[in-house]
Amino acid sequence: MKVVEYVHHGWNVKVRKDLKGRHRDHCLCHRCKHFVPNVPGEDNPDNCEIAQRVYELCVDHGLVLPVWECPEFHESANGDLPDPAKVGREYRKTATVHAVQMDRSFRVHTPEGVMQGGKGDYLCKGPAGEMWPVRGDIFEGTYKPISVETPE
Ligand code: SF4
Repeated sequence: MKVVEYVHHGWNVKVRKDLKGRHRDHCLCHRCKHFVPNVPGEDNPDNCEIAQRVYELCVDHGLVLPVWECPEFHESANGDLPDPAKVGREYRKTATVHAVQMDRSFRVHTPEGVMQGGKGDYLCKGPAGEMWPVRGDIFEGTYKPISVETPE
């Protein structure tokens, strides 16, 4: 199997081409509720102590060490799904939606089926005409108005 080189943690590392980047598929940490990884070189008291030591060993020596077995593993609520807040990048929404805060509970047909909204929730309409409800506190923490005027 071909071995390729690339730069990881500042090291010029070698890895089997077919296995490059595949460690997340096998490492228990990536589906463990104790896993709170950080960026290279930073202390991270919130992370699992074992995972942190493994991580620091990797940074110090240019290694990738998937954890195959661990007595302290506890499945995260979303099982084998990666946690975007831990392993993903940050994104900011750029799409514009129209929304109205509802003064009553409501049901709306969405692309994912019929959904229920409550009084104070927002009814949103996207650029393709799709509609969906968003809980009031989530909407107000996520969206900012781009106009103070409301349509007649
Ligand atoms: S408890 Fe084990 S599986 Fe979970 S993050 Fe720590 S080392 Fe990984």
